[in-house]
Amino acid sequence: MKVKFRCFIGLGSNLDDPIQQVSSALNELALLDKCELINASSLYASAPVGPQDQPDFINAVAEIETELSPEALLDQLQLLEQKHQRIRERHWGPRTLDLDILLYGHQIIETERLSIPHPYMYERSFVLYPLAEINPHLSMPKGLPLSELLTACPMGSLLKI
Ligand code: ATP
Ligand code: CA
Ligand code: CA
Repeated sequence: MKVKFRCFIGLGSNLDDPIQQVSSALNELALLDKCELINASSLYASAPVGPQDQPDFINAVAEIETELSPEALLDQLQLLEQKHQRIRERHWGPRTLDLDILLYGHQIIETERLSIPHPYMYERSFVLYPLAEINPHLSMPKGLPLSELLTACPMGSLLKI
């Protein structure tokens, strides 16, 4: 029997009907081979990070269980981004779909292609609040409780929709 890992994926979109982009991406995650969608947060609206001259984002967090390795999971997520016609322009610019691996079990991974836990997740309200909605008692790989991260991260412009 293959070992399965519990992972959290951050979804974001601010182009071409973002609500539809994120909703369909959640369905596509559920259909991925060797992945099972366990839970999905509500959708949230948030102001962009980085360049401000772009539309607001729709974000969500999904919890999956997978047999895929971290790299194989990233490959599948990048294929989904491409399917949503994501074009890589400027850093932190507008996009039809962004899929980030936030957590992969309790693993800490630093490779050329992957940093897990996702390096900015601890300070991003659009990650932490949806994550807490589906798993309020979660702890980070080094044991830091999500609840503590939330205390240090104001909701800001984040709006549950
Ligand atoms: P941010 O990382 O600040 O959220 P971004 O999502 O806009 O920025 P991208 O352009 O989508 O960044 O991704 C750039 C690269 O980040 C990807 O090609 C991928 O190899 C790498 N990467 C590193 N860690 C992760 C991770 N945990 N999840 C997804 N991609 C990652
Ligand atoms: Ca991202
Ligand atoms: Ca990304």
